[in-house]
Amino acid sequence: MIARFVLSTLLGYYLLDSIAKLLNLRSLQTQVPGEFLDVYDANRYRKSQEYTRSNTWFELLVSTVELVALLVFWFLGGFEELDRIIRGLNLPPVPSGLLYLGILCAGREALMLPFAVSHTFVIEQRYGFNRTTVATFVADRLKEWSLSGLLLAGFAFIFLSLFEAFGPSAWLIGWICTAALSVLLVYLAPTIILPLFFKLSPVPDGPLRVQVTEFALRQRFPIRELLVIDGSRRSSKANAFFTGFGSNKRIALYDTLISSHTVPELLAVLAHEIGHYKKHHIIRHLLVGQLNMFLLFLGASFCISSPKLFATFGLSNRSYYVGIVLYLILIRPLSVLFGVVVNYWSRRDEFEADRFAAEALGDPNPLIQALKRLSRDSLSNLTPHPLLVSLHFTHPPVLARVRALKAGRRSQESEVTSQ
Ligand SMILES: [Zn+2]
Repeated sequence: MIARFVLSTLLGYYLLDSIAKLLNLRSLQTQVPGEFLDVYDANRYRKSQEYTRSNTWFELLVSTVELVALLVFWFLGGFEELDRIIRGLNLPPVPSGLLYLGILCAGREALMLPFAVSHTFVIEQRYGFNRTTVATFVADRLKEWSLSGLLLAGFAFIFLSLFEAFGPSAWLIGWICTAALSVLLVYLAPTIILPLFFKLSPVPDGPLRVQVTEFALRQRFPIRELLVIDGSRRSSKANAFFTGFGSNKRIALYDTLISSHTVPELLAVLAHEIGHYKKHHIIRHLLVGQLNMFLLFLGASFCISSPKLFATFGLSNRSYYVGIVLYLILIRPLSVLFGVVVNYWSRRDEFEADRFAAEALGDPNPLIQALKRLSRDSLSNLTPHPLLVSLHFTHPPVLARVRALKAGRRSQESEVTSQ
């Protein structure tokens, strides 16, 4: 019964996701939307559509391989067999669990590695985005694996030790520990993790620095550091983000962003990031993340040692470490649903931050120009299908953002004239 439920939700999600991707291909338009005529020529636009097409077929291939691999592993009794081998080693439960989870994660990573390689060196290369050398790519992977291995092992260690000691009632303290650890990580990420991958340096003195500092002061937004990131070593794509809390706020701009935008456009991008802070989006996202974790732990306390769950996946021996893997597969459709809601909020926040930026600068045009240029430079799909948007997009389609910014200005103008 549960097996049929898990199977049908896995297949159901796969179908829904594939349909959304195919619909998205069908909704590609050959005409450049009017708002973008000044930044796209016909060739560049055609290239952006080809890029969407290549990426979509690639993603379909990856999701198919992932699903088939999971089903094959499940139906060949992989979960049971791996558990049997590890039990044969006679280790205590927590190290056994770390080994079990470690092997599964490593297996998944090994399966996905060829895809990561071909995405960077075939697709991104073909469209002129890739600037990663093989050496950087290998070094990045090694750093990523050690880092995520360490983090996963840390979280798994806390989780398993608590559950082994207190049984399912450990969920609350487990949640408190992981919440504390993840808040700590948000703090540490910019100062410890980011520099492992990128070189960060202060934005040099000049008009950009002066104007940003003035703007931040005007907005009562104290920035501790204004940094530039050497993103160009890996990709020509541009980005900007904001990290830290309280008086420890830092803003980081990719060098690729600085080199391809004017100072007013950069200011608009920063104003958008400041908008996320001013409108309390960042703290809210953090809280929603913690709520997600809370529900995950609460659900785990009910399911993780249930005999039915183990029977579903053909396992005779129960343990917390196997339970956690099965539980995560079981609740995947729920986490997809949760993701759809969170993405919706996130898109709404993006509109709000755009509005904030336009109002703070008294002019929506620099942000409109920056958004258009960013989407041209990254060959974004301007007309994604709504189903795909609601499933996966944390940001609204750029055309919708540009239109909202223009509409905001029109409504402001009509307010002024009616006053
Ligand atoms: Zn944003």
